[in-house]
Amino acid sequence: MPFFESKMPSVGDSIFSKMSALALQHGAVNLSQGFPNYDCSELLQNLVVEAVRSQKNQYAPMAGLPELRAQIAQKTLSHYGVAYCPNDEITVTVGGTQAIFTAVAAVVHAQDEVIIIEPAYDSYEPAVLACGGKAVFVPLNPHSFEYDWAAVAAAITPRTKAIMLNSPHNPTGKMMDANDIFCLERIVQNTNLVLISDEVYEHITFDGVPHLSFCQSEILRSHSFVISSFGKTYHTTGWKIGYCLAPAYFTQEFRKVHQFNVFSVNTPMQHALAEFLKQPEHYQNLPDFYAEKRNFFRDLMQKTPFELLPCSGTFFQMANYAAVSELNAMDFAHWLVREVGVAVVPISPFYKQKTEQKLVRFCFAKTPETLKQGVEKLRQYFG
Ligand code: PMP
Ligand code: GLN
Repeated sequence: MPFFESKMPSVGDSIFSKMSALALQHGAVNLSQGFPNYDCSELLQNLVVEAVRSQKNQYAPMAGLPELRAQIAQKTLSHYGVAYCPNDEITVTVGGTQAIFTAVAAVVHAQDEVIIIEPAYDSYEPAVLACGGKAVFVPLNPHSFEYDWAAVAAAITPRTKAIMLNSPHNPTGKMMDANDIFCLERIVQNTNLVLISDEVYEHITFDGVPHLSFCQSEILRSHSFVISSFGKTYHTTGWKIGYCLAPAYFTQEFRKVHQFNVFSVNTPMQHALAEFLKQPEHYQNLPDFYAEKRNFFRDLMQKTPFELLPCSGTFFQMANYAAVSELNAMDFAHWLVREVGVAVVPISPFYKQKTEQKLVRFCFAKTPETLKQGVEKLRQYFG
């Protein structure tokens, strides 16, 4: 074996894959990894079959199928009231993950600093490291999970290239409000900072409070790559299709990377999504669809000793288990899957710094039967 130096010596398997594997190994109810255990729309499935059967099986254009980009532009206009040009401001990607990686690769030079708000989704730091950048972590308030904008501003140095943000937020379920947007505008205005805005849960929002997209702020939009994923919106996480909205000057650089690590995204699915997007009710109904699941799950959990934190977006519910265990979050999650038969995700791997928080994340994008089964196990064990 030749000697080579790992570029990411501390990166291991993702906690989501690990917990799903443990759920399988122990025959546990899997409320860990974020994926629905119900199917996507039959119409959407039929549209894929139709595309495959009508010879739509060769390379799509590098930036994405023009029909799909046109529909994404239309959706962005009707939903957010904002126009993006399908030709040079919208790129179809292999899910949100590739869009995030590509945006980082497009702008981060060696030694650049990138601010990551933690708890953070697991792919952010490795993307920065792979590009030779340095991740600088700024935590949310450990109790309220509010943003500390003064701390973000204080973390900015002459080497800071970008800030990575995520709303609705995985794992806390927190959404940025108008004041957060205002504070961020003050931070980036008249700077060269780049924002990588992970908005993959944009349509999973609760209690009548809409998601505030960075594309809706003129100031933020001019600094931003705005990223979404059809996996979350249409219950198709296995399709790995998403997109990136960005001003032409960013999109141009984004596509230079995209062209050579992906080239183009699979064609029949793009045809199907382009057709399906013509019916906006599918994403418009998502808040009600998931609110029912969230409420159902939270009601069931009331009869357990877990303390539920507020959840205003995403399909994740954070819970404090201090009433039932002294273990740290990682050990508790391992114990829970083994002894109780319920798989959850510990919150500690979302942090770079060591955290003592006794918090785990449940995914409620599951059928009522699965949710009931999982909570029943918790109730039986904890009494
Ligand atoms: N960002 C966050 C916060 C996520 O939870 C996910 C879910 N996997 C992604 C990005 C990636 O989305 P995709 O599956 O489309 O790559
Ligand atoms: N986003 C999903 C989660 O948070 C997992 C995706 C993955 O396994 N990479 O659970």
